Amino acid sequence: MSSQVKSSSAIVRSAPVRGFFRKLSTAFVSAIVLLSSALPAAAAQRPKRVDLLVTGGTIVTMDKERRVIEDGAVAVEGGRIVAVGKRSEVERRYAAAEVIDARGRAVIPGLVNAHTHIPMTLFRGIADDLDLNEWLTKFIFPAEAKNVTEDFVRTGTQLGLAEMIRGGTTTYCDMYYFEDAVADETARAGVRGVLGETVIDFPVADNKTWAEAMRYTETYVAKWRKHPLVTPAIAPHAPYTVSEAHLREVRAFSDRTGAPVVIHVSETRKEVEDISKQMGARPVEYLAAIGFLSARTVAAHTVHITEKEIGLLKDFGVGSVHNPQSNMKLASGVAPVPQMMRAGVALGLGTDGAASNNDLSMWEEMDTAAKLHKLNSNDPRAVSAEEALMLATTGGARALHMEKEIGSLEAGKRADLVVVDLDALHQTPRYSIYSHLVYATKASDVRTVVIEGRVVMRDRRLLTLDEVLIKRKARALRERVSRSIAAARPLAGAGAAAACGRRNSRARG
Ligand SMILES: [Zn+2]
Repeated sequence: MSSQVKSSSAIVRSAPVRGFFRKLSTAFVSAIVLLSSALPAAAAQRPKRVDLLVTGGTIVTMDKERRVIEDGAVAVEGGRIVAVGKRSEVERRYAAAEVIDARGRAVIPGLVNAHTHIPMTLFRGIADDLDLNEWLTKFIFPAEAKNVTEDFVRTGTQLGLAEMIRGGTTTYCDMYYFEDAVADETARAGVRGVLGETVIDFPVADNKTWAEAMRYTETYVAKWRKHPLVTPAIAPHAPYTVSEAHLREVRAFSDRTGAPVVIHVSETRKEVEDISKQMGARPVEYLAAIGFLSARTVAAHTVHITEKEIGLLKDFGVGSVHNPQSNMKLASGVAPVPQMMRAGVALGLGTDGAASNNDLSMWEEMDTAAKLHKLNSNDPRAVSAEEALMLATTGGARALHMEKEIGSLEAGKRADLVVVDLDALHQTPRYSIYSHLVYATKASDVRTVVIEGRVVMRDRRLLTLDEVLIKRKARALRERVSRSIAAARPLAGAGAAAACGRRNSRARG
């Protein structure tokens, strides 16, 4: 190096040589200028590193414009969506170590099961083909009294979570006992939940008095309030199982803590008759009159409601949840879904507990919702395929008061998305994506599930739950449940029938 410098300085004396070096240095400076101006452009074009890219496939965004992007891509960073668009565009801007190839598949927002009782998966099929009263009195009530412990709830929750992930459900709203254990299992599995601790005017599995239940709920809500996946909630069972004073207390609790309030409302004709007789108003009117309803309320069922009550749900910003399969199976009635949609009620879709459905598939629920309302209104245009998918995505998000966070694939929202296979026989050939998703696709077509940016199922393999172990534990509990029903059956005759009404409906609804 130093010898080269010396030799250069020795030859700069001659003029032609000086000219040559001047040209060389000018060219060198120009090259530097060119290079430096090119550098920022090159940096801007270099793709930004993100956590996850889902590339290719048909992106069904469910955003306001209802964009469907063929050969699209979704970029995810820090648990949120940072970009949704054409694959070529997104890939130019973003790169990631973890890439999910969605070519030939659909990418949809995670489904929202807006009403269930997840541990009741362990009561799946213990009793069918009965009306609500008989079903509760003779089977659910005795089975719950004898079996529901924290361990039972944990196993049932794991079973339900595995089933829901397999079916593309990324958020669910629950209502049961030992909800702290439900929250714990849900957080471990990486699933999002609005999880309501049931409070009721009777001794139940986890709490024997109202005061005890409220203390439990206070601690529970404080513990989970800041969790990214779990939204702790309070769940007064129904207007006919919780007194007016206690319903007012629940509202005050919700105002103080910000916790959502989950409740069953107007599920059966009997409920409407009983409340009308006792309170002089129909259930939704009564709840409005006592100051119970708010924009934090989630009302399940709302089957037997009038135009006036629909108006109240809309005015108070109440989320309402339609459970068509459960309502059909228990012959509870048909909710006025087209009317609620027309009125702009925040309406979602739910499976209800697995004991009255008997699965947690939101695909079946979408298909049923679309068909039930066509039949019921004698109008094949009622609840279109696109509307059914809306109910299970953005509708559910609105019903749970989470529409700013979930429900659609848009930059800024939580990264909850599902990759769905489209090449099964029952999906071949394909014309319309909405028709295919709602009328032809099944839970078993779900391939990969991402929640809060974390892959919880990849290529049909569950990554956060041990499916074999869960099934073994659930089967082991089956024996205990069977014995408890067999032992309880003699009690379920005249004595239990006399206890109908309030007590019998405590379990669920
Ligand atoms: Zn329910």
